[in-house]
Amino acid sequence: MAHALFQKGRTTNSPLPLPKTKAGEASHNQAFNEVRDSRRNVEINLGKACNNRCVFCIDGMPKREDRSYMDWDELKAELEFWYRSGSRSVGFLGGEPSTYPRIVDAVAHARDLGYTRIALASNITKLRLTHFTDRLLEAGLSRITVSMHGHTAELEDRITRVPRVYEKKVAALRHLVMRQREGHLKDGLSVNPVLNGWNHRHLIHMMRFFYEDIGVNDIRVNFMRPEGYAEGDPELTPRYSEVMPTLIKAVVLMEKHWTKQTFTFGGIPLCVLPKALRSSDTLLKRYLGEYRDLSTDCSVRQDGDGFGIEQIDGGRSRFNWQDRKRFDLKDAPRACGTCDMVHLCEGVWRAYMDIHGESEFRPLKAAR
Ligand code: SF4
Repeated sequence: MAHALFQKGRTTNSPLPLPKTKAGEASHNQAFNEVRDSRRNVEINLGKACNNRCVFCIDGMPKREDRSYMDWDELKAELEFWYRSGSRSVGFLGGEPSTYPRIVDAVAHARDLGYTRIALASNITKLRLTHFTDRLLEAGLSRITVSMHGHTAELEDRITRVPRVYEKKVAALRHLVMRQREGHLKDGLSVNPVLNGWNHRHLIHMMRFFYEDIGVNDIRVNFMRPEGYAEGDPELTPRYSEVMPTLIKAVVLMEKHWTKQTFTFGGIPLCVLPKALRSSDTLLKRYLGEYRDLSTDCSVRQDGDGFGIEQIDGGRSRFNWQDRKRFDLKDAPRACGTCDMVHLCEGVWRAYMDIHGESEFRPLKAAR
């Protein structure tokens, strides 16, 4: 049967068939595998105000109302709603969630409700205030994913468009690494650079910097999605084929040198990967970020009447992130129609194909 993406006349809100899960595992739309955390996750957007201005930000042009923060009572109700729905993992998103006035209370409330994995997706500029970071950790924060996209002041300050932000982030990161070594952040500390036209050639230097100079043990790179500020920008949006030599070098170095650290990538279709990588289950499990991503719902302030799969309720727009990507944000190039990997591959960012077309994509044959 054809993948839902390729069925003629599919509608954006037709549900995906649920993959099989092991007995006792949370049943949702991400299939069980031994490297994926089976907790169901919700990401709550607290408002789109941010203290960085990254050149590729998809929220880059927030409306006035987007800059306001989520009401505290509304946030408590949303946390309770998702907990009742079965989520045991919650992430706070922005904009920049660390600037939310009651972020420490939000983390503590999530812990008190019973969430066991409480995460922040942060540019960590504010976390240079180590007493603030420690309050978050004491309130129960168990994971931080760090938005940092360069290994030098020149690169990081240029990408974020904030002078001297690099030194603040480095100070924050060193403190987080120290706290993690003391036993905090049991669900991880991960640096998440967005791979873009300005930094992809520096990837190996970035890895060396984060692994060896700073002591982080997890890096997840996500290929950029050219929307917001970067919509239609070919300089910021490299072709997959341009990025591939450095990405392959990164994988080789992981296999031979950084064997104790974790490196994953996301947002890259399988057919642009070299055969040795895409045809190895072992390597795919190790490096394909989507293989590990938790089944994730999102809750964002309602914007207009909503689009695609999102459901509007009480001023919030709610959708599943994996479905959002498949149905609303990615598309299937013609090659996908005869590809055997559609069950594993989410397709290609629509906005990428608007810039570079679909000449790079080839249907793959499954190994028999
Ligand atoms: S042809 Fe389509 S489904 Fe197959 S790997 Fe490429 S993008 Fe993914």
